[in-house]
Amino acid sequence: MSAPVVLSDVAQAFSGRGEKRLAIDGVSITVDAGEFVAIVGPSGCGKSTILDLIAGHTRPKRGSVTVGGVTVAGPGPDRMLVFQEHALFPWLSVADNVGFGLKATGVDAAERDEVVQTWLAKVGLADAASLHPHELSGGMRQRAALARAFAMRPEVLLMDEPFSALDAPSRDRLHVELQELWSETGTTIVFVTHNVREAVALGDRVIVLSSGPGTVVGEVKVKLARPRVVESARVVATAQQVRGLLDEADQMGIRTPREQGDGYVSI
Ligand code: ADP
Ligand code: MG
Repeated sequence: MSAPVVLSDVAQAFSGRGEKRLAIDGVSITVDAGEFVAIVGPSGCGKSTILDLIAGHTRPKRGSVTVGGVTVAGPGPDRMLVFQEHALFPWLSVADNVGFGLKATGVDAAERDEVVQTWLAKVGLADAASLHPHELSGGMRQRAALARAFAMRPEVLLMDEPFSALDAPSRDRLHVELQELWSETGTTIVFVTHNVREAVALGDRVIVLSSGPGTVVGEVKVKLARPRVVESARVVATAQQVRGLLDEADQMGIRTPREQGDGYVSI
């Protein structure tokens, strides 16, 4: 189950210090059903703003946002969001966290148990079902958050820098596991990050945003075999292409991100 996501000429603005400021402007992005798209751009360029629009938390100031051909009018279980902060309920066990959305949508206890066990097993947390979030490592928490999102069988999974707080080995493992879960489920994934190599390792396509107000400056198709890891020479080489796009935009006078040593970008 998956749906296409289309943003057409979208602008979004927020008020701050008495004036309205554009966060994104003229953003047009098409994500095919079942496609894994990474969006990369510097901090503050509007990545979370884009995910909020697709999730239905906000409405665009201009332009349109559709999922499965239908204008997004609010949040729904067809679109799940996974954040950097795991956002698990601290008072619930891992199993109850994973089953929370299912319970809220009226799935009965027996079916819920089965779905929860299935997803805990898929993310390697079968033995952690009765633990509480504070008893988990950062990587395990993000695994639980992934299980909770996938358990809802969303058509679109929205991921907002979900691995940027993890240590490198945990992040590398989750990169591989996420690619496996994606190919198994066929879910449409929109993954935002400020790490160029992470974007290349995960995306079928990498869409590059300029700094605020964010606008699309280009994209790079990634045709490398999966699962990919950030250290692979081919990923690093393709990341150079993404950087090339950023440099090009820079020469045209658009403020663009600058990469730091480990693949992260800043302006
Ligand atoms: P990113 O996720 O790429 O770091 P955001 O989408 O969070 O960027 O923010 C883009 C811009 O919009 C920033 O300048 C940010 O300060 C502003 N912004 C985002 N959300 C709000 C809000 N709710 N109110 C005011 N300004 C906001
Ligand atoms: Mg953000």
